[in-house]
Amino acid sequence: MPLPKVVSVGAGFGGLSCARALAGKPADVLLVDRHNYHLFTPLLYQVASSLLNPSDIAYPIRAVFRGARNVRVRVGEVAGADFDAHWVAVRDVDGGVVQRLEYDYLVLAMGSSSQFFGNVGIANASHGLKDLPEALELRNHVLRCFEAASGEPDEEARRPWLTFAIVGGGPTGVEYAGALVELIRLVLVKDYPELNLRKVHIVLVEARDQILPAFPKVLGDDAELRLRQRGIDVRLNTRVESVAGDGITLSGGEKLRSKTLVWAAGVKPSELVAHLRLPLTRSGRVEVDPHLRVADYERVFAIGDIASVPYRGGEMPQLSAPAMQEGRSVARNILRASRGAPLETFRYLDKGIMATIGRHDAVALLGGVALKGLIGWLTWLFVHLYYIIGFRNRIVVLIEWAWDYFRYDRPIRLIERAKESKS
Ligand SMILES: Cc1cc2nc3c(=O)[nH]c(=O)nc-3n(C[C@H](O)[C@H](O)[C@H](O)COP(=O)(O)OP(=O)(O)OC[C@H]3O[C@@H](n4cnc5c(N)ncnc54)[C@H](O)[C@@H]3O)c2cc1C
Repeated sequence: MPLPKVVSVGAGFGGLSCARALAGKPADVLLVDRHNYHLFTPLLYQVASSLLNPSDIAYPIRAVFRGARNVRVRVGEVAGADFDAHWVAVRDVDGGVVQRLEYDYLVLAMGSSSQFFGNVGIANASHGLKDLPEALELRNHVLRCFEAASGEPDEEARRPWLTFAIVGGGPTGVEYAGALVELIRLVLVKDYPELNLRKVHIVLVEARDQILPAFPKVLGDDAELRLRQRGIDVRLNTRVESVAGDGITLSGGEKLRSKTLVWAAGVKPSELVAHLRLPLTRSGRVEVDPHLRVADYERVFAIGDIASVPYRGGEMPQLSAPAMQEGRSVARNILRASRGAPLETFRYLDKGIMATIGRHDAVALLGGVALKGLIGWLTWLFVHLYYIIGFRNRIVVLIEWAWDYFRYDRPIRLIERAKESKS
């Protein structure tokens, strides 16, 4: 009997876990991603703040499946699909050839993109922190701000270069704010003796009345206090209304003069889901049944950030753990379906959430137990080292963290940009 053809779109946390669970099993798997690497997003802010190199948090997909003869990898962008005829259209990375890939089972795991709530001005003016190119762009930008400030003799004109506004008090905004203040106070202070870095102003803007809103209030308040102790100006119940030139207008009318607006205020499902005309919920996520099949499509599964999986009266949080568990459940269901067995119902096992604030400081909620300070940070360190994919990366990341920890240094402070490819 021919093996079922499985096409997985996306090699992020969901798609990669699904393909790994199918490796060595009776299925012919094709994993398609527009990048040739899997990205460990929880440490992306460390690339943006000069602590880690891209290769420490990104791992070539082909290397993951070296030993798996039934998993192939295709680098390209999925641009369309015909769910009745069972194919997806993939475009080559250079935007050229479009090819149809036929499937028996399709797994959609395209993840999400930044949500700007329709504000085009903010989208154009802000720096994102969603993928590797954005993290590198932000790293370059921040380092350039210090160079520009160093060359600016007028104090008033220097101020916008040294004012950094970060929008979004979720884990990404909090972790980046904490890392940025450390980069400045522990490292750049030595590189720029001509600048008075006490004048640096980092503002963290959060629309709700608590940072880290997914955590209990006691941990959100603790994180806020620790950020304030590090000199970060936390603004709760505040929104960024508009951006024009160097001027950022906050709700209430206050204006900040800043060259830097970092956007970490939420995500929305990949635009491909709307383009594919899949059934969507009000949040724009794909409607799925208890087996994670797309409503009305028996052979199409949706997982991770794009899927609307009911959870505790709302929708599943857009985190790596649900995406991975969903990927593994879908793999089991594909094997079951292909041998005519009944499908399993997806159940999420919540292992907890965590966010780091800086050196030996983090908050975590594990199995209902709240951890903070050094204990929280050690837990965070262990969990992230355990989960970061690839043995080499784990050792490299540990050595680089240890170097940073004991030497108060960040060696990756190059302002660099790759030359565009000629072809
Ligand atoms: C900065 C940052 C920090 C985060 N920190 C944490 C954290 O600490 N803990 C946590 O649990 N979660 C964290 N998250 C959330 C977590 O990354 C996501 O919930 C998780 O990645 C979702 O998995 P996914 O498989 O749905 O999508 P992703 O992991 O985003 O993977 C989607 C994949 O699809 C590919 N793709 C997209 N469109 C196409 C297309 N048209 N064709 C081909 N390929 C395509 C992308 O290249 C990508 O590889 C963080 C996210 C960010 C951005």
